[in-house]
Amino acid sequence: MKTEKHVMVVGAGIVGSMIAVQLLDLGWQVTLLDAGFAGQATRASGGMLAPTSEAHSLPVSWREKAQLSLQLWKTWLERFERMGLDVGYISSLAHAATHLQEAEQFKSNLQSAGQWTEDNPEHPHGMAFYSEEGSLDPVQVLRALHALVPVTQAEVKRLWEDGHTIKADTSSGELQADGAVLACGAWSNRFGIPVQSRQGQALLLEGEHVDHATYKGRGYMVPRQGATYVGATEIDTWDTTPTHGARSTLLAYVQQHKPDLQEVRVLDHKVGLRPLLPEPMIAPHPSLQNVLVATGHHRNGILLAPVTAQRVMQLFMQESPPSYGVTVH
Ligand SMILES: Cc1cc2nc3c(=O)[nH]c(=O)nc-3n(C[C@H](O)[C@H](O)[C@H](O)COP(=O)(O)OP(=O)(O)OC[C@H]3O[C@@H](n4cnc5c(N)ncnc54)[C@H](O)[C@@H]3O)c2cc1C
Repeated sequence: MKTEKHVMVVGAGIVGSMIAVQLLDLGWQVTLLDAGFAGQATRASGGMLAPTSEAHSLPVSWREKAQLSLQLWKTWLERFERMGLDVGYISSLAHAATHLQEAEQFKSNLQSAGQWTEDNPEHPHGMAFYSEEGSLDPVQVLRALHALVPVTQAEVKRLWEDGHTIKADTSSGELQADGAVLACGAWSNRFGIPVQSRQGQALLLEGEHVDHATYKGRGYMVPRQGATYVGATEIDTWDTTPTHGARSTLLAYVQQHKPDLQEVRVLDHKVGLRPLLPEPMIAPHPSLQNVLVATGHHRNGILLAPVTAQRVMQLFMQESPPSYGVTVH
């Protein structure tokens, strides 16, 4: 793709927003558009940066990129700090074992990135501790990114080529640019990308009840600036309604693993649609020239956003770049 001057980025979740900021950093003109659909994955996310402890949910070809992304996050966090913005970053992450067999399994999976500890009385079977991993508040990250690049509220209904120009039919009228990035998360299938939706629900509880993100049993808890995020369910649906069933499941999880927390108040019930592909796709659009696609990050889009944005920049700067991930014809 040749060097462009004005790029439309469709989707202001973490992926589109980070890409938009990097394009601005290049000195390009950027229009970041978002429809404001219910079920945005980013705002519902746990915000864990866990390339080693989430390795099982990453395609093998993405594990190294995930480690690189964790390194790139450090630069973003420094940037937000320089802006005087707190995005709720808390270093360290643990996997607590619930029984001895699991402890043995965790120990054998530790790799050099983690340490085994049996010092915490709350986790008598021990836990794998990853000091390089951590968590942040994705809502605060979006706020920081949108301080750098404003969001135009508009739904893109159709995108087409007109000579060397990309045109968009939007809920606010027609727009045109030299290129576009589709970062529409689970909604990318409108533009011919076969993304599925894996819905997740999570609760935000009053009070900070863990020191750092902790996986245990079938869920996890993450400290979130005076609150605790508890996640998450997984179901293949496009429905964005919070359900009583998910709330009960998550509260039962809390009771099981934090029995002293029975009367805790629920501050928020989040629902997000994880964009699911066999692996993330960061590639030219299969049929539209000068349009890139960045989606399909499933459980790891917060972690993978920096490496995705970096890759999109490389694609824009090269004439015939190799793609990452799925190829759609
Ligand atoms: C419960 C839950 C927990 C999670 N926990 C973690 C975690 O701990 N760590 C991690 O790394 N990842 C986690 N994830 C995954 C992560 O949230 C996603 O992979 C990531 O947020 C995807 O970002 P995105 O920008 O691609 O999509 P989204 O955040 O969904 O944003 C897409 C945006 O596109 C907009 N849009 C769509 N179509 C159009 C259109 N036609 N016109 C204009 N705008 C449009 C939508 O309104 C939306 O705002 C979690 C997800 C969930 C649901």
